[in-house]
Order: sequence, then C-alpha cells, then structure tokens
Amino acid sequence: MEKIQSVQGMHDILPDEQDYFTFIKKVVRHRCRQNGIRRITTPVVEDTILFKRAIGEQTDIVEKEMYTFIDQGENQLTLRPEGTAGVVRAYIEHGMSNLPQPVQLYYFEPMFRRERPQKGRYRQLFQFGVEIMGESDPALDAQLIALAYTICQDLGIADMVDVVINSIGCPVCRPKYITHLQNFYAGKERNLCDKCKTRLEKNPLRLLDCKEEDCQILANLAPKITDHLCTECKDFHDHLKDYLQALDIPFRESPKLVRGLDYYTKTVFEFVLKNDPKAQNTVCGGGRYDKLVEFLGGPNTPASGFAFGIDRLVMTMKDAGIIVPSKDTIHVVIIQLGEDAKKKAIRLLQDLRSKGVKAMGSFGKDSIKSQMRLADKLEAPYALILGQMEVKNKTIILRDMKKGTQTIIKYDDVLPEILKTIDNKTLDTHDFSTELTRL
Ligand code: ATP
Ligand code: MG
Repeated sequence: MEKIQSVQGMHDILPDEQDYFTFIKKVVRHRCRQNGIRRITTPVVEDTILFKRAIGEQTDIVEKEMYTFIDQGENQLTLRPEGTAGVVRAYIEHGMSNLPQPVQLYYFEPMFRRERPQKGRYRQLFQFGVEIMGESDPALDAQLIALAYTICQDLGIADMVDVVINSIGCPVCRPKYITHLQNFYAGKERNLCDKCKTRLEKNPLRLLDCKEEDCQILANLAPKITDHLCTECKDFHDHLKDYLQALDIPFRESPKLVRGLDYYTKTVFEFVLKNDPKAQNTVCGGGRYDKLVEFLGGPNTPASGFAFGIDRLVMTMKDAGIIVPSKDTIHVVIIQLGEDAKKKAIRLLQDLRSKGVKAMGSFGKDSIKSQMRLADKLEAPYALILGQMEVKNKTIILRDMKKGTQTIIKYDDVLPEILKTIDNKTLDTHDFSTELTRL
C-alpha cells in the first residue's frame, strides 16, 4: 500500500524533542506569571478577512502564505498564520477594554504559513507571544524587550542573539518619510530586484529589508526613518532607549528594520542570531501596534507585543549543545512470571506509582529475558523480579541494572526499600486531591 506521510513542511514533535518544548513552555509560563501576563488560546481557524485586514494585503503572509479554504457553509476561513490578529479580535469581542488596563495576554500555539520548507522554516510552526493592550508608554515596550531577553537568558541563548530595535513612526510622520524614500529610489528602479520594483509602489518600507545584494546596497544609502520621526515618535524612541539602558539590555539600532507586517507603529524590534547569515536567523519579532485594535473595530487602544518562533529556539539550543532536563526516565521495571506473580505485579506497579516512582511492566512478554531486555532499553536503573518462587516465599528480587547485582528482599518491604534506593528528588509525586477546592 502507498505510504501516507506527514504534509510537507509539517512535522511530528517526537518525545525527545518534547523535552525542549516542555522546558520552553515552563520558562514562558514562569516569566509571564511574574509579569502578571495571563494565557489565552484563540481558535486555529478565523475568518480570512481578519488576517487580511490586520496583517495587510501587501505582505508576504497575506499575498502567498495563508492556508485559506471555503468550508461546507461557504465561509472563507484561514488557518492562523500568526497570533496577534486573533488575540486582538478576542480583546474586542469580549469587551476587554472594560477591564482594568493594560490587558496582558500570552499564547503558545501552532501557526500555519505556506512557505518553502527548509531548515528553520516550516508550514506548521509554533510560536509563543505576548500582547499587551491598553497602554502607551515606552517603558512598556522596554519591559517587553526585557522580558523577551530574560527568556533568552533562561534558555541559555542570550549571548547568541542581537537585540535590534527601530522606530517606524506613526501615521503622522511615516507617510512623509515614505515620500522621501520613494524620491530616493526614483530613477534607481532598474537596480532593484523584481519584488522591490513592486514594493516601491505597494509597500515601500519593505525595500529596506530586502535580502538581495543590490537592493541592500541602495537600502544602506537610503534616508533613515529615525531622521524623519515626528516629535512624539522621536521622544518615544529616545525614552525607549533610555529605559533599555536602565534595564541593562544590550541593543543595537537598525534603521533598516521594518518587519513584515503592516500593523506596527513606533517601536519595532527583532532578536537575531549573531554570526548567522541565514534568512531564518530571527528568533523573535515584535513591536507596537497602536492602531490595530481600532482598525479591527474596537476602541482606540494602544498595544505592544512580540512573538518567538519556538522551532527556531529549539534548533538554536540544540545547535549550541544545550541539553534540557528530561523527566521521562523510568525508575523501575517490574518483571514477572506466572499468573499469581502477574496479579501481584500489577498491584505493585500501582503502589509504586502512587509514591511517585516511575514504573513500567511488560505483561505481554512471557520470558524473563525479553522483559529484562525492555528494562535495559528503557535504561531503568532497577528491576524488580517476581517469579513463582518469590510469590511462594513472599519475597521479591531487586536488581541493580547497572551493577548487575541482585538482592532478595521481603515482599512487604519492597516499597520502603525502593524509596530508600532511588534518589527521592527524582520522584514524580503530585497530590492533586489537595490542590482542588469546592464552592
Ligand atoms: P521571517 O523573516 O523569518 O520570515 P517573519 O518576520 O515572517 O520571519 P514573524 O511573523 O515575525 O516572522 O514571526 C515571529 C517568529 O516566528 C519569527 O521570528 C520566527 O522565529 C518564527 N517564524 C516565522 N515564520 C516561520 C516559519 N515558517 N517556520 C518557523 N518559524 C517561523
Ligand atoms: Mg516570513
């Protein structure tokens, strides 16, 4: 039969890789909690119009990367390509502007973009992001950048990233700057790549971050937006830099950083891997989007946020040789022979697990040898062996798998003996019953 495989650009995250996801999630949850940022999950599917309006028609995402389909009820739907649009939609839909502001939310979800699959670029990708709505102050942007930086420190990659910032102005100063930019490019069109020729008309800011060499040469000579900011935007940007310094966040300014999405105003930033010339070297992107809530039909609400690409974080950590803790290790494998032993063994497994001992048995295998092989494969440090003889004598054999030594212990002592033997710090105990309360 023909093999059915995963969709190109979409991959399984197998248990070994899950350890990285689990660790990243733990860091994110912990740091967000410290900042009073709460989790939100929005649907994977939204009306296409949401993304078209929020992200902008002249962007890579909307022009060519969205998974859009018509469902059986003739609705135009899209698998979300990014997180901000859905979060802002939810903020408006649930009247969150009536809550004390700012409203601080984070997400940790899969996104979908139909890009050319390659290292660090997938069609199902994972992102976590933070969105803070209802506050306009450069101190907030500085704290968001600091939060993203702290997360990089927690993940052991802070010294590998460059924090790059810029301001792309506001509807007051940006149009004037764009005119300067277009004037600069007038007469130089034939030096531009085909894409940039179109950008000149439709999205001139994107000329600045084109990766083509000839376009780069021109972009380096082009007028800088930071020289054309209005007083408000300039003041805002100066304060942002002051606050970043106060927070000891190392950063670099780049007047060519514009970001791919239309909704940004004032602050934009990226965390870029140093010494990595690949196009897929950005692990985090973010900025302020003061006009988006209103643009999507909500009240005039300033907002700011960022998103990390989790797959790229995992890749970066692995490439740097960073190993995350794994709790998927088994303490004990129980080996049994005969029906009486089997019955005793399943009960023993349950008792061990209730004490936090991670224990497994293999009841479908009948030979001791094949059960022992399982213990070896799982790298379990101990095995408990229960044969007919042991059942009759009310004993059990405790085998140290590394040393290859065995001791016979009284069956009634097995739990305290095991707990004495294994490192109690590695026990997986959780008494959920004490965590719940009732009305
Ligand atoms: P790029 O320039 O690499 O295409 P982007 O500007 O499209 O990135 P954002 O929309 O800012 O990316 O998304 C935030 C982060 O999500 C990126 O910095 C990156 O780490 C990650 N990301 C974006 N697209 C992909 C993808 N196709 N596969 C894996 N990660 C991705
Ligand atoms: Mg992209």
